Amino acid sequence: MALNKPKIVILGAGYGGLMTVTRLTKQVGPNDADITLVNKHNYHYETTWMHEASAGTLHHDRCRYQIKDVINQSRVNFVQDTVKAIHIEERKVVLAGGELPYDYLVIGLGAVPETFGIKGLKEYAFPIANINTSRQLREHIELQFATYNTEAEKRPDRLTIVVGGAGFTGIEFLGELANRVPELCKEYDIDRSLVRIVCVEAAPTVLPGFDPELVDYAVHYLEGKGIEFKIGTAVQECTPNGVTVGKKDEEPEQIQSQTVVWAAGVRGHPIVEEAGFENMRGRVKVNTDLRSPGHDNVFILGDSSLFINEETDRPYPPTAQIAMQQGETVAKNIGRLIKGGGQLEEFKPDIKGTVASLGEHDAVGVVYGRKLKGTPASIMKKVIDNRSLFMVGGIGLTLKKGKFKFF
Ligand code: FAD
Ligand code: NAD
Repeated sequence: MALNKPKIVILGAGYGGLMTVTRLTKQVGPNDADITLVNKHNYHYETTWMHEASAGTLHHDRCRYQIKDVINQSRVNFVQDTVKAIHIEERKVVLAGGELPYDYLVIGLGAVPETFGIKGLKEYAFPIANINTSRQLREHIELQFATYNTEAEKRPDRLTIVVGGAGFTGIEFLGELANRVPELCKEYDIDRSLVRIVCVEAAPTVLPGFDPELVDYAVHYLEGKGIEFKIGTAVQECTPNGVTVGKKDEEPEQIQSQTVVWAAGVRGHPIVEEAGFENMRGRVKVNTDLRSPGHDNVFILGDSSLFINEETDRPYPPTAQIAMQQGETVAKNIGRLIKGGGQLEEFKPDIKGTVASLGEHDAVGVVYGRKLKGTPASIMKKVIDNRSLFMVGGIGLTLKKGKFKFF
């Protein structure tokens, strides 16, 4: 048995972290390195399904699985703990329960909601981020409906839901909400016409940058289900009673609401910023081999990283698709560094497309350059969701957690 084996520490068991770990155990042998994976919880959650858990259309337990079920436990030391800091110079990670030295570090801590410093959002708005936030938002919405008929003086703000941001997260959440609200109305004896769902988007269009025909389809579909859109209108402030929104050069408007959902983008994990890496909104512009500039033993991937698209000279949007592909490259490159296997691989994203769900049975997307909408897009979205389970946990995990109700 080799003494002083290099220590590889992977932070975060999200899409990027889990792909790295599952591939790394095939790249390096037990005598080559010690592998440690650190994650806050003992489960992985499908961030890409959190709009469903948040609306209450899919139970949160369907969206998570135990990390020990997908890693090779004889090869990977799993530490359930919270990362508090990274000391780059000392090559160590500070956890809530101790410290971990490393020779190679992989940072896959994901993202946090971006509030752009808008007053009151951190305190009063609900993000769509993880199992805990999803469970809280689902329960909160249900409590508003349950409370409505208990009060002598009826409060419309209990039945008003405001969604800030009509990017992919906002639109997917609205799609779920459009299906969930009629169920809640039935359960709590509330007339659907009393419920108001308002989406406030600062850009001149919903899903900025996406195919205009598919954008129109999504907007008409959601409007048909009773969603109101305020386009070119920014959320300016959030209070316990609702939001102030406004168009440029116009008088702001107040919307009274007990439920403000903030879905207006993400920034990299604050621990990455605090560690001293040069970053843009918490994301580190990594080299083509996915190492952090100036730190040859530190790889950063997923939402904490920023990778430039050479064709557009703009960063790729942070997606699970990219995070998973980066995990494969990081595993190969660490294997090469440890075994002295020559030049490191350059990361080349292979973007297969984007599909946004509009509730369980509708969606819009572009896959391999082909536009999809309606049932075919919805089936494709489930295939994508199942594929990501398959990539990490094989057929067993896919059968256990996959989505097979296609119609
Ligand atoms: P994550 O998958 O978020 O994982 C980060 C991990 O780090 C988590 O396990 C977390 O618990 C852990 N962690 C965080 N902080 C700590 C800490 N201090 N200590 C220890 N552990 C910690 N992308 C797509 O490609 N397709 C989609 O359809 C899609 N849909 C989406 C839908 C929604 C509602 C949202 C919010 C995002 C969606 N995305 C989608 C984007 C995608 O989810 C992210 O890009 C992806 O999750 C990033 O992966 P990651 O590995 O960087 O981080
Ligand atoms: P985003 O940055 O893609 O969209 C945020 C939206 O909020 C933008 O349209 C922006 O104009 C708007 N906004 C910003 N400030 C605002 C304000 N003050 N008031 C009103 N609107 C405001 O963020 P997202 O939707 O959270 O997505 C995050 C990442 O996850 C993206 O990379 C996205 O591609 C990815 N994602 C992908 C899918 C999918 O592929 N199905 C689903 C969800 C998220």
